[in-house]
Amino acid sequence: MGQIIVMEELLSNKIAAGEVVERPASVVKELVENAIDAESTSIEIILEEAGLARIQVTDNGKGMDEEDAVQSFSRHATSKITTEHDLFRIRSLGFRGEALASIASVSKISLWTSDGENVGTKVELEGGRVLSCTPASIRRGTDIVVKQLFFNTPARLKYLKTIQTELGHSIDLINRLALSFPSIAFKLSNNNQTIIQTSGRGDLRQVLASIYGVSNVKKMIGFESESADFHITGYASLPEITRASKNYLTILVNGRWVKHYGLNNAIVDAYHTLLPIGRYPIVVLNIETDPMLTDVNVHPAKHQIRLSKEKELMELVKGTIRSVIHKVQQPPKVTEKPEVKKQPSVQFDFFKQTYQAPLQETIPKKDETEQPFIVHEEKEPLQEEVVVETYIEEKKPFPDLHVVGQIHGTYIVAQSDDGFYLIDQHAAQERIKYEFYKEKVGEVSASERQALLLPLTFHYSLDESYRIKESLEELENIGVYLEEFGSSSFVVREHPTWFPKGNETKIIESLIEQVLTNRKADIKKLREDAAIMMSCKLSIKANHYLTTKDMEQLLESLKNAQHPLTCPHGRPVIVHFTTYEVEKMFKRVM
Ligand code: ADP
Ligand code: MG
Repeated sequence: MGQIIVMEELLSNKIAAGEVVERPASVVKELVENAIDAESTSIEIILEEAGLARIQVTDNGKGMDEEDAVQSFSRHATSKITTEHDLFRIRSLGFRGEALASIASVSKISLWTSDGENVGTKVELEGGRVLSCTPASIRRGTDIVVKQLFFNTPARLKYLKTIQTELGHSIDLINRLALSFPSIAFKLSNNNQTIIQTSGRGDLRQVLASIYGVSNVKKMIGFESESADFHITGYASLPEITRASKNYLTILVNGRWVKHYGLNNAIVDAYHTLLPIGRYPIVVLNIETDPMLTDVNVHPAKHQIRLSKEKELMELVKGTIRSVIHKVQQPPKVTEKPEVKKQPSVQFDFFKQTYQAPLQETIPKKDETEQPFIVHEEKEPLQEEVVVETYIEEKKPFPDLHVVGQIHGTYIVAQSDDGFYLIDQHAAQERIKYEFYKEKVGEVSASERQALLLPLTFHYSLDESYRIKESLEELENIGVYLEEFGSSSFVVREHPTWFPKGNETKIIESLIEQVLTNRKADIKKLREDAAIMMSCKLSIKANHYLTTKDMEQLLESLKNAQHPLTCPHGRPVIVHFTTYEVEKMFKRVM
């Protein structure tokens, strides 16, 4: 006898819930996305105990009639797509028709809904079973309350994290949705405490300000550009604003917040050599494209996406952000009271603070991608209306600097009309040399070779020599001309003329090492790393006294650099003490 039977719907919903409903924030996500799809302009999310006790989402959208209100809880019930053809042209956030069924199967639900013209409907469910369906008020919109999430799946309940972590996930989510839909007013509260509130006036800068704080948003610049298939817009922070994780990158594709490793990297690449290692910018990137080029049906939670023409898009993103940042960058100004960054605390107390919808810089971090943001950066009170003025001036030419002197054999002091500057001499030289070598390594040419009087010999272990032999071409591309010499030795008889004199052996060894550790890296990356390595090795270190002439030359070369403000590792080269700030310090001005 056959042993295979078709599952009962309630059971299959519960199984689907395993993927769709991972935690309270997943319920919030599905309910709020439904509210957005229903064309709401105002959405309120009320949580109790981070949603573990109760989640309520109230919208002013188009509502449902009685038949749909009941039907919406069936598996594969959706009003959003009808044919396979639609699956490739999705504009709505939902389309799988399984969220409500899944959520209902693991909780107790009450739903009120009306189109605002006909009498409304109230539906009550428990564990996916409809308990009652009765008439209700005709207020336009939908109000849904989910109680006792996971009451019938104790194992799932056990895996939830602390209340704070769970709340952090919902805050993160609403922050992103608010950034995706500036024209919708969002309000999120937990245990009667308002956490996020946006005005819904359609101004992305205002939303950014209510999430990241006005002072950070003043240092974010707008960008916009397009290619044949993509139109991108957004805001990117200046390099002086950094964060410890990539959680502050928000990528939206046709209004949907998605996680995309490649695009994250394209954004971070735009800041290459402008940010210190391990620090990341704040960016909101909005991508508009033909839905045909996207596939959002990758994961039941719909936060992943596959993109066609990914390479074209990444180049566009990287190039646009880089050029806009380059245009407005200024030496960081020293202010009297430097912004003190608080250590992210392990526990954050929502109940004592008025929140300014902080983007949260986490609770102990294991997997960055999985953690919500939790920060205590700025505690400006919640503001109904945040006005952000445009602030960033077009880039001024690099200041005309006059050397005053040197301190600690490390920093050059220079002055100009608008105050004085400190320049880190090592960082400055690294930047200058890096740009020089980058150009040189980028175009290694035969005519620029110089013969050595005495050939240099290099010995390696057998396995290393084997790998080196496989990489001879790559090495040649960055200026290392090795000839095999016996089974595990190599000689070098010539090298590019721009190789730094007296350091040839050291440089060649480092380049070989770099190729061995970076195997399969593309040539661009090898050249890049080679330039960074040479610039760092050959730059004057701290505690090295320079003559006035040396310093003047250094500043002149810095002035001519393409990106004079940071070293190739992203640390600042120069800081500015404005006349005004200095006068303030001495109380000459108030
Ligand atoms: P999907 O969003 O993938 O269609 P759901 O299970 O999330 O599937 O929702 C099922 C259907 O219920 C939706 O297609 C929509 O027609 C209806 N619905 C759900 N929530 C709302 C809401 N807040 N307002 C109006 N209609 C809703
Ligand atoms: Mg949905």
